[in-house]
Amino acid sequence: MNVNFGSHIVSPAASTQHFIPFTGGSREVSIVIKAIELIRQRACSNDLCNIYFKVLDNKRTFEEIYIDENVWINYRTQPFRGNEPPWQGQTALDGKIVSGGKEYDIAIHSSSFFLRKSLPEPKQVEEIAAIIVHEMAHVAGAPNLGPQAEQALIHCGFLAQYDSTISG
Ligand SMILES: [Zn+2]
Repeated sequence: MNVNFGSHIVSPAASTQHFIPFTGGSREVSIVIKAIELIRQRACSNDLCNIYFKVLDNKRTFEEIYIDENVWINYRTQPFRGNEPPWQGQTALDGKIVSGGKEYDIAIHSSSFFLRKSLPEPKQVEEIAAIIVHEMAHVAGAPNLGPQAEQALIHCGFLAQYDSTISG
């Protein structure tokens, strides 16, 4: 996974959804970098997590997606408009084909950071990490309806963040 600081051109669908780069050095970036490290510690060599991902539609282990340079974590600050349901994380799956496979764009909305700003930082990091793991399950093929993406949290070390009411 890579964090987009401006070198990455997002896919057309991701662009329509206002996915943008993070600003280097921001508080949000500091949390995202720590979240990526926490995910590595809890999930990359976690057999239950790797097996769970491998049975999703794209048949890739968690670690394969984690180390995939073509999976990008983007940002969004644009408020939700009209009929758009508010989201914390979003994945656009229409990325272009590149030499190493296919590009995938994930975004974390600025409200996800804002809502948590009064929590202790380790808690903020853990919750943002859980959002990323959920989106990684969509990259792995979890459908946009149903429990599969959220259930990744159970298997990948983020049980405390699991929300059984989430579908999609
Ligand atoms: Zn989802």
